[in-house]
Amino acid sequence: MSLKIKRNIPLAPYTTLKIGGIADYFTECKTEEEVIEALLFASEKKMPYYILSGGSNVLVSDAGFRGIIIKIKTLTLRIDGAKVSSEAGVSLPLLAKKTTGHGLSGLEFGIGVPGTVGGAVYGNAGAFGQETKDVVNSVCIARRETDSKIAEFSNEMCEFAYRDSIFKRHKDWIILSAVFTLKKDSKENCEKRMMEMLKNKTTNQPMGELAAGSIFKNPPVTPAWRLIDEAGMRGAYFGNAKVSTQHANYFINTGGATAADFLALIRLIKDKVQEKCGIQLEEEIQFVGF
Ligand SMILES: Cc1cc2nc3c(=O)[nH]c(=O)nc-3n(C[C@H](O)[C@H](O)[C@H](O)COP(=O)(O)OP(=O)(O)OC[C@H]3O[C@@H](n4cnc5c(N)ncnc54)[C@H](O)[C@@H]3O)c2cc1C
Repeated sequence: MSLKIKRNIPLAPYTTLKIGGIADYFTECKTEEEVIEALLFASEKKMPYYILSGGSNVLVSDAGFRGIIIKIKTLTLRIDGAKVSSEAGVSLPLLAKKTTGHGLSGLEFGIGVPGTVGGAVYGNAGAFGQETKDVVNSVCIARRETDSKIAEFSNEMCEFAYRDSIFKRHKDWIILSAVFTLKKDSKENCEKRMMEMLKNKTTNQPMGELAAGSIFKNPPVTPAWRLIDEAGMRGAYFGNAKVSTQHANYFINTGGATAADFLALIRLIKDKVQEKCGIQLEEEIQFVGF
């Protein structure tokens, strides 16, 4: 067995919020074979497992995780004409840079999304009118219930919707890789678009803070940040968790915040928005170990 399994690992360093307790077991997988090995280990031990990638869209419980955290670090990337094949652990900003560098359009938005290909497929990440679903051709996954056999999903089978996919309803499936079909354009045009998106993002969102992106999905008519604003909650805080004054749908760990602080702030904001605007906000952030 080439897989290294560690015991009692604090999860906070593996998240952009820098929050979270200890995982009983933890493994980093650098190849697809190691991912399958980790899945088999969890199956044999009848142990719960959770997939962690960039850790940029998760709130990990202060109590940590009872089971094994499988961290995806597979990094193979191939660009063949307009077809891009990427393992799940490849970083989205890197993918944006590589594809625009080849004069390929469709993933420019990834420059401002500090996660991985696996995380982007799972949550159909997007920004500035681009979404992962628009460029995914197929996705390879591993599933415990089929004896860790690998299955290929077409775009349609992924059931993509706004910040949603079939993978959110099957949290035990592991995304191994994805194939994207991009559009050809000049390298200059692609890179210009990407840099404009990055500039917009760094100007309007708290990119240098300890955050996890948008806490809530945007309801159909009004963006979540505006509802939070209308409820008078911009800058509100609980313990060391604070609603960003720059972008009200980002919550910041101002230093030493706990998952309990974040959970309390999320509940407070949901209640206030419901009370003042009559709209029920739905979390985009994923909860681990609660
Ligand atoms: C500063 C900042 C800006 C952001 N901007 C954006 C934005 O513009 N648009 C946007 O959509 N998001 C944005 N986000 C949120 C986040 O970066 C995205 O949701 C990203 O796609 C999450 O990827 P990840 O690899 O970090 O996933 P993680 O946070 O590690 O995991 C998120 C969820 O995906 C699941 N998952 C991850 N990888 C796999 C896999 N291989 N197989 C199965 N399940 C998997 C996890 O189990 C978990 O439930 C931002 C976050 C930050 C901190």
